[in-house]
Amino acid sequence: MFKKGFLANFKPDYFADSIYDIDGEWLAAKNINAMIIDVDNTIMARGERLPDDKLRLWVSGLRDSGIKLLVISNNWTDRVKRIAGHLELPLLAPAAKPLGPAYKIAIGRLGVAAAEIAIIGDQLFTDVLGGNRVGIRTILVAPISEVDLIHTKALRVFERILLKRLSGQLLVEGRWKNI
Ligand SMILES: [Mg+2]
Repeated sequence: MFKKGFLANFKPDYFADSIYDIDGEWLAAKNINAMIIDVDNTIMARGERLPDDKLRLWVSGLRDSGIKLLVISNNWTDRVKRIAGHLELPLLAPAAKPLGPAYKIAIGRLGVAAAEIAIIGDQLFTDVLGGNRVGIRTILVAPISEVDLIHTKALRVFERILLKRLSGQLLVEGRWKNI
């Protein structure tokens, strides 16, 4: 159905049930020294206003491990700004993922070689596609909630089809399961 090269654009390097499966040790083992972090449905449920203690601890743990961090979002709202502010993380928004320019700016700001950077996000068509296009590694997490924008809901249908082909894994009740 698809050419191999086309499909490869959507293939995440890694899958995780949640951001909390990723820590400094895991990243160090993979020689990832910087991470670009998506907001909605990756670190926060869409509409959730402020980071909780668990999220703050995750961020500070990564920071203590020497991982450079940057938040990226296609949203440009006070909410996203406030979230980044509370986490004391630099923010790049609006990012127009999956288009390349924002990713290139993000890589430049992190000051780390692209090969040592990963993006972590919940969507194949924005986070993963954009990351693959600029040659950084990609970590796909199961979305925190089922609440999505209308256009995202539509893309989720295609996402499930692609994921089945790409990974041998399925998203079942918010968790990645091997088929
Ligand atoms: Mg997202």
